[in-house]
Amino acid sequence: MSAVTDTHAVGHTGNPGQEAARRRTFAVISHPDAGKSTLTEALALHARVISEAGAVHGKAGRRGVVSDWLDMERTRGISITSAALQFSYDDCVINLLDTPGHADFSEDTYRVLSAVDSAVMLLDAAKGLEPQTLKLFDVCRHRGIPVITFINKWDRPGREALELCDEISERIGLRPMPLTWPVGESGHFHGVLDRESGDFVGYERTDAGAHLAAERRLDAEQAAAEVGAEWQQATEESELLSASGGDLDEAAFHAATATPVLFGSAVRNFGVGQLLDLLVRLAPQPGPRPDAGGTPRELEAPFSAFVFKVQTGMDPAHRDRVAFARVCSGEFERGMVATHAATGKPFATKYAQQVFGQQRDTVETAYPGDVVGLVNASALGVGDTLYNGKPAVEFPGIPSFAPEHFAVARTTDPGRSKQFRRGIEQLSQEGVVQVLHSETRGEGAPVLAAVGPMQFDVATQRLESEFRSPIELERLPYHVVRLLGDPRQRSMLRTRTSEVFDRPDGSVLAVFTDNLALRTTLRLHPELDLHHVVAATEH
Ligand code: GDP
Repeated sequence: MSAVTDTHAVGHTGNPGQEAARRRTFAVISHPDAGKSTLTEALALHARVISEAGAVHGKAGRRGVVSDWLDMERTRGISITSAALQFSYDDCVINLLDTPGHADFSEDTYRVLSAVDSAVMLLDAAKGLEPQTLKLFDVCRHRGIPVITFINKWDRPGREALELCDEISERIGLRPMPLTWPVGESGHFHGVLDRESGDFVGYERTDAGAHLAAERRLDAEQAAAEVGAEWQQATEESELLSASGGDLDEAAFHAATATPVLFGSAVRNFGVGQLLDLLVRLAPQPGPRPDAGGTPRELEAPFSAFVFKVQTGMDPAHRDRVAFARVCSGEFERGMVATHAATGKPFATKYAQQVFGQQRDTVETAYPGDVVGLVNASALGVGDTLYNGKPAVEFPGIPSFAPEHFAVARTTDPGRSKQFRRGIEQLSQEGVVQVLHSETRGEGAPVLAAVGPMQFDVATQRLESEFRSPIELERLPYHVVRLLGDPRQRSMLRTRTSEVFDRPDGSVLAVFTDNLALRTTLRLHPELDLHHVVAATEH
């Protein structure tokens, strides 16, 4: 049994409410190189080693599914197509949804956050908050997603723990609540003070390949005798933290105003078990999801799910299309025929899969919080709802996020302009790229907007292969985006360093080459009604 499917070993009750109660569905938000892949592997392996330690039939020979995937990821330098990793731990089912980074950072990365109940913010101890983490955190804040912070790479020199905590509260306004506190500065790490029990958890250097960290627990007295001054310092700092509101407050975590913080080393497996325990103990379980009208869909209601990501061409041999849906209520059973809320048409789920990297397993059942990959899903677009039985339900669409890259698309074959228009329309509806309109550029030159440039490659390739409409893309030099509150002000923004684009929902984007251009324009027209864009529109 692989890491992807070993939940079946735990068995299930068949009751959606009870199954939801033991689900933890989360994603890791981080900047490239902070250690997301390493942590993912460590979490899955730690959980498996723990599960297998008590199992009668250890299947050692099946190790390595996760590692293989990671190897491929490493050689390619980017994360390959993947969606969710599922594993069991302590009678819980953990769903870790992938947030593609590096070169394939795209709107999908943001969309994944609409399908999770919590997030783990992974920071490199030497770097603290980095740009991609901040962007992803913005989306978490917007959605009110509770965030756990894991400060990684404590085995090597980095910044001070207090300074990192200050950065979290000052830059993103989350109150840090360290559950552990490092004993010894980064690079000279002895272990952590478990602030709840008062124990010392000693860190023993292990092989990077070991699956469980050698952790040694000592009580305070033993620690004082063995570790000495650094233990003393850690306990004093911990008392200061308690005095300044740094103790665990579960309600504040769930309200997304404070973040539990752990210190560790993913590559040494230190702190990984603590993170899993924390997820099981504190992270929110799937709850009733509000529909488009705001009425929550009860967990026990018949099956419902929404699509948060659509991927084409995952299997080079078959040009297929997989829609990844998060189950919101009821029980999903492979083979069931659900209703596609947008069209009212039936959708057969015969080919449901769990997809993680190149690994595919057929999914038989799934419950709220789980992710299913629906194959041959040509009718499904991002944000679409599937449901079964009564009452009918439609969940709100997934918002469009602030694009960062812009390009004008033109067909290079004037004879195929109809296919070009149809293709552009289809890509927009699927959410592959955002399609914007420019009054000055006209109909024949739609502006494609994306969170990551890879979305342009996908769009170009699909227009060529599916619609046989080769295109040429002219990249535009804009990098700063605002929402224009008053569309009548658009004429103020037609300058050499700015432009205005219309979104399909009627909202208007003002784009600038850089921050200087934005500031200059605002100096000329202080009355301009500009707003930050995070999740501006629902489509
Ligand atoms: P990702 O880009 O966030 O997925 O990062 P990776 O997991 O690929 O890690 C980036 C680099 O950091 C790799 O060389 C890892 O071996 C290294 N790394 C990850 N975690 C740790 C850690 O806890 N300590 C140290 N020293 N290196 C780490």
